Amino acid sequence: MLNRSTGGTARPRVVIVGGGFGGLSAARALARAPVDVTLIDRHNYHLFQPLLYQVATAGLAPNSIAAPIRAILRRQANASRYHGDGDRNRCRQSVGADR
Ligand SMILES: Cc1cc2nc3c(=O)[nH]c(=O)nc-3n(C[C@H](O)[C@H](O)[C@H](O)COP(=O)(O)OP(=O)(O)OC[C@H]3O[C@@H](n4cnc5c(N)ncnc54)[C@H](O)[C@@H]3O)c2cc1C
Repeated sequence: MLNRSTGGTARPRVVIVGGGFGGLSAARALARAPVDVTLIDRHNYHLFQPLLYQVATAGLAPNSIAAPIRAILRRQANASRYHGDGDRNRCRQSVGADR
């Protein structure tokens, strides 16, 4: 897909649905690639699932295993985030304003 924000030049836009381990790894792997990365997630946070049991057993606070996706990708210049459902194409741009 052509990136309209660059005036229709041929810089590709890579859209990743899901900010889990797979989606974040893919976004980071493209940090130096000549592409614009858009990551869409229905939540505005990444959840570290392997430690869910620690929260369930009151060993950790919930915010210890969840981090805002915007914070994780803050330093990645070619990445933007959308908070929304990738299935329904009802994405709300949340760059700098994730709730
Ligand atoms: C309790 C628990 C313990 C675990 N322990 C381990 C472990 O010790 N070691 C290990 O290797 N693995 C472990 N796993 C498995 C590991 O967490 C998963 O394999 C891994 O999270 C999968 O990564 P993923 O990126 O494919 O999906 P996920 O991490 O599930 O991420 C998917 C993301 O996509 C988003 N999403 C989904 N559908 C849509 C949509 N339609 N639109 C927008 N966003 C969407 C979700 O909100 C989510 O953020 C554990 C899992 C659980 C639940």
